[in-house]
Amino acid sequence: MTTLTETGVQAGRLADRIVNSPAGYSGIEPDQEWVAEILRLKKQRNATILAHNYQLPPIQDIADHVGDSLGLARIAAETDADTIVFCGVHFMAETAKILSPDKTVLIPDARAGCSLADSITAEDLQAWRDDHPGAVVVSYVNTTAAVKALTDYCCTSSNAVDVVNAIEPDREVLFLPDQFLGQHVARVTGRKNMHIWAGECHVHAAINGDDLEEKARANPDAELFVHPECGCATSALYLVGEGHFPEERVKILSTGGMLEEARRTQAQKVLVATEVGMIYQLQKVAPQVDFEAVNAKAACKYMKMITPAALLRSLTENADEVHVDPETARLAARSVQRMVSIGHSAPVSK
Ligand code: SF4
Repeated sequence: MTTLTETGVQAGRLADRIVNSPAGYSGIEPDQEWVAEILRLKKQRNATILAHNYQLPPIQDIADHVGDSLGLARIAAETDADTIVFCGVHFMAETAKILSPDKTVLIPDARAGCSLADSITAEDLQAWRDDHPGAVVVSYVNTTAAVKALTDYCCTSSNAVDVVNAIEPDREVLFLPDQFLGQHVARVTGRKNMHIWAGECHVHAAINGDDLEEKARANPDAELFVHPECGCATSALYLVGEGHFPEERVKILSTGGMLEEARRTQAQKVLVATEVGMIYQLQKVAPQVDFEAVNAKAACKYMKMITPAALLRSLTENADEVHVDPETARLAARSVQRMVSIGHSAPVSK
C-alpha cells in the first residue's frame, strides 16, 4: 500500500516499511535514503525539527535544533516555520503548541508520555492550592497543559532557582512535581516556606546514591555532572560533605548547563548522572573528554519512542498533531511565558 500525504503527494515506498506495535514505530534504518526523505518532507511542509537532548542519535543529527526544554520552548515561540515537529515527549510538544497556537505542532508518537508529568493531575493541584490559599504555584515544565493552567510560574531545571528567587520571600511556594529538583531549589535558595510535591521521574530516581558512590570512588579524579532531578543529587552533596569529592568537581546542572560546562571543563573524565541520551551530545561538544554514565541503564523508554520510523511517519502523514483546548492554552500561556522570560537558558546546538 502506498501512503498519500494530505497534499496528495506519494510518500513513496520508504514509509510503506514502517511497522507499528505497542512499543512504537520501527522498520526504518536511519540511512541516506531516510535522511533524504526526511529533508524532502520537511521542506515540503516548511517544518522545523526540534529534538531534546535525550533523543536517539539519528534524531539529534537530523534535527534543526537540539537542546533542553527551555531552549527548545524559546525556539518554538519564535520560529517562522509552519509546522513544528517536536522530537521529545508529549508535554514538550504541548508546551510548543501553547507558545505557538497558530502553528501545526506534531509529535512523532503521541504515546511518548512522561512518568513525572503523570505524577500530578489538575485535580490534585486544585486540592493542594485550596489547602494553601495565597501560595504561589511553581511547576516544573514536565506537567500537562491542564496543570500549567493552574500554575503561576513554570520553570525548567535551568531556571528553577531564578524563578523561586523572583517570588516575594514571605509568600508560600507550592513546588511540583519533582521532589528532587524541589529539594535542590530549597537548598540553593534557602527558602523555608516551600512545599514540595512528592513526584519523581522513574528514570532519574533509578540513578541512586549507591551507583554514584561506586563510580565516584573508582574515578577519584573525575568531575561529576549531576542533573537535579536525579535521586543522587542529594548523594552527590553528601559525598562532598564527607570530603570524598572536592566541591568544585561536583556540578549540579540542567542538561543545557551540562553542555556549557562540557565546553569549559579541563577534566579528562566526567561522570554523568542523567538519562543516557545526554552522553551523545556531551561527547559531540567535547570529544577529548571521556564521559561515562553513572547508570548506563538509565534510558527513558518514552524518549526512545521517537524512532526514525516515527519521524518519517510524522512528516509523511502530518501526525500526531498536538491539540490543546484554547481556554486551557490561554491560562497555561501565562505561566509558560514567565518561564521563557526568566533566567538563563543554555544555547541550543546547531
Ligand atoms: S526522563 Fe523522566 S522526566 Fe524525562 S521524559 Fe522520561 S520519564 Fe519524563
